[in-house]
This record gives sequence, structure tokens and C-alpha cells, in this order.
Amino acid sequence: MTSGNDDLRKRFEAAFMPNYGVPPLPLVRGEGCRVWDADGNAYLDLIAGIAVSSLGHGHPALVRAVSSQVAGIAHTSNLFLNEPEVLLAERLLDLLDAEARVFLANSGTEANEAALKLAIKYGKATGRSYLVAAENGFHGRSLGALSLTGKASIREPFGPFARDVRFVPYGDADALKAAVTEDCAAVFLEPTQGEAGVVPLPEGYFAAARQVCDATGALLVADEIQSAIGRTGAWFAFQHELGTATPDILTLAKGLGGGLPIGACVAFGPHGTIFAKGDHGSTFGGNPVAAAAALAVLDTIAGEGLLDHAAEVGERLAAGITAIDHPLLDGVRGRGLWRALVLTGDRAATVEAAARDAGFLVNAVQPDAVRLAPPLVLTHEQARAFVDALPAILDTAAEDAGRKETS
Ligand SMILES: *Cc1c(COP(=O)(O)O)cnc(C)c1O
Repeated sequence: MTSGNDDLRKRFEAAFMPNYGVPPLPLVRGEGCRVWDADGNAYLDLIAGIAVSSLGHGHPALVRAVSSQVAGIAHTSNLFLNEPEVLLAERLLDLLDAEARVFLANSGTEANEAALKLAIKYGKATGRSYLVAAENGFHGRSLGALSLTGKASIREPFGPFARDVRFVPYGDADALKAAVTEDCAAVFLEPTQGEAGVVPLPEGYFAAARQVCDATGALLVADEIQSAIGRTGAWFAFQHELGTATPDILTLAKGLGGGLPIGACVAFGPHGTIFAKGDHGSTFGGNPVAAAAALAVLDTIAGEGLLDHAAEVGERLAAGITAIDHPLLDGVRGRGLWRALVLTGDRAATVEAAARDAGFLVNAVQPDAVRLAPPLVLTHEQARAFVDALPAILDTAAEDAGRKETS
């Protein structure tokens, strides 16, 4: 690597569409929870590529699985099948301990597109014409997934959409009951809203959604693209809410591949066979390298006890943050290793920058919320290091914001 941070930022800006702006840092290398930029600075990675690098960086199990699979066969397409995809689907069904079927895709958005097509086909067969989703929710950027996305600022520039999607306030069980009738094909919900700022549902809401769907026959679709695979200390976040019940459809991506692109749509019971031959497909879906990576992730989470670990480190991290008394900090929300620092004002971008200068990568997910979604292998010592550094980071952010206001 010969190019430095500044050079790469300039070239990025000149070569790419401006949809991301210019990201603050190029990352060139990672090891565990540490990453290095192109100038050689090290950071503690507390965002893991948006809740993706669940085993951290360069985990030997992931390196081994991907290297040996790419050397064996890297791609088969859906014209043929491969053992890693079969093993992965079987493993997911095993973890879910339910009668279900899997479709493999390459991203979260694509997993939701599959779920949406299932819902549409189900709706046509049963005379159901509309969908329900939550305000401020995020389900992806393709036109189908975007039509379900409640965040108006990203949805509205690309509307109108072909689907009748009715948005309800997130977490209001009465509003949901009123919105879901026997004409509703499906309800799409995140068990905790990730992009909205790691906003958990009130106790009992997801179970109430399950009941409304049971009563009306609408499908309950749990978008667990961000929340599953150990992020909250459970394999799936719905397990905290539903006991032994399940959603009708579950979508997965992000942490499942540990950094390799993969998405999965799981449909339970009779919904597992809604798609007939020819109804859906993907050239790369079921790719053996991505599937081998996902298997390594699932094996490692189980083998290293990372569900309990994420729950424990997350609890202590949250307790440490809660104990900080600072005028910029209003508290912390979330579960497991998925948290948001809630700020007293719209200062998240300055906190993110101050954290970066202090050697910590975090994410200003909302103007007043900073997201933490570190690798599940984050140690107690690493979590402690962030908690210890946080008061000074908040001081710096408060000073920077003050300077901006007075200049
Ligand atoms: C990230 C995310 C998506 C979109 O996933 P991509 O892999 O970016 O397509 C959809 N739903 C939720 C809840 C997400 O967090």
C-alpha cells in the first residue's frame, strides 16, 4: 500500500458518485478488533463495518474457510449446487429449530426483496392487497425494499412506489392492530430499529405483532438483517420477544457472512414453499465462498461462546457508559453488543470525529445518536478502554461544537 489517507480520499471523490460523500478514512488492514488506516494509524473498531465483521478482522477460522473454498471452487451459480450452501441452509434451520426453507442472496436488501415477493405472492393467493411497515424503519435501498422503508428522507425522492405500504408508529401496538386487517398481506418489522438509532421495541410489542398477524392471517416478517447472529446476545433477536414462536419470514445478512456478502430469507411452515420453480433467483446467491464464510461464523460463535460473551461485554459496556455523567450524554440504549449513545443534542457527527481522533471507530447513526456495533469478539478490556476514553471524547466534541456555534 503506497497511497496515504489524503491521496485515497481525493481519488475516491473524483472517481465515485457522490452518494456516500467522502468517507473519513481508508482502512487497509485489520486484526481482531483493531484496524489500520493508510497512514498507519490504529483504531479500535467499534462499528465492524456496520455490524458485519462479527468475528473481527482476520479471524483464522474465517481466513481458513474462505481461502480453502476459493481454492476449491469459488462459484457454481444456481445451475449447479454446492455443499457449503446446503450445509449453511441446514445449519440455519437447525439454529431456528423449526420447519422452514431458506433462500440465499447476496445482501440484506436482496433478502428483503425475496421476503417482499413471498408476501406479494401470498397476498395474491389470499386476496390481500397491502403491506404494513414501521415509521423510521430501514429495509434497504432497492425499489421494493425502499417502498417498505419508513425513513421519509430516503424514500420520498424515489417515490411513488408500486406497492401500497402503510406506515405505523414503531412500537405502538394499538396503531398496529388498527392497521392490520384481513386485507393485509404482511407486516415488516425490525425487532430493534438499527438505522433509526438502535431503538428497541417496547416490551411485549413484537409478541403483540405476532398475535395480530395470527388473528388476521397477515405474514409477520422479521427483518433481522442487523439484529441477528449474536448481535444482541442471542442468535436471533426475535428469540428475546417470542419465546418459542417464530416470525413467518426472517431476513438475515450483515453479521452472517463475517465480512463476505451474503443474505438469507427464511420462510417458516407452509410459507417455505410459496415460491414455485422459476419464481425467484440469483446468479451469486448460494455462492460457496460466502456460504463457507457464514458457516465459519456460525461455528465460531457457537464454539467460542460468543452469544454469552456479547451479552456480558455489552452489559458491562452499557453500565460503564451509564455511569458517565456528562452534559452531552443522555444515556445508552440497545442490547448485547449493539448500543447507541444518546446525546443531549445533535452532536453525533462531532462525537464520531472526536472518537476517531482518539483512536475509536464509532458511527453517527442519527444526528443525536452514536452507534456501537463492535465485533462480537470485543474483549472486556477493549470495552473498558472506550468507556475510559469517552469523557474526554465528549469534552472534545462539546468544545468543537461550541467553537462552531461561536464562529
Ligand atoms: C442494512 C440493513 C438492510 C439492508 O442491507 P444491505 O446489505 O445494505 O442491502 C436492511 N434491513 C436492515 C434492518 C438493515 O440493517
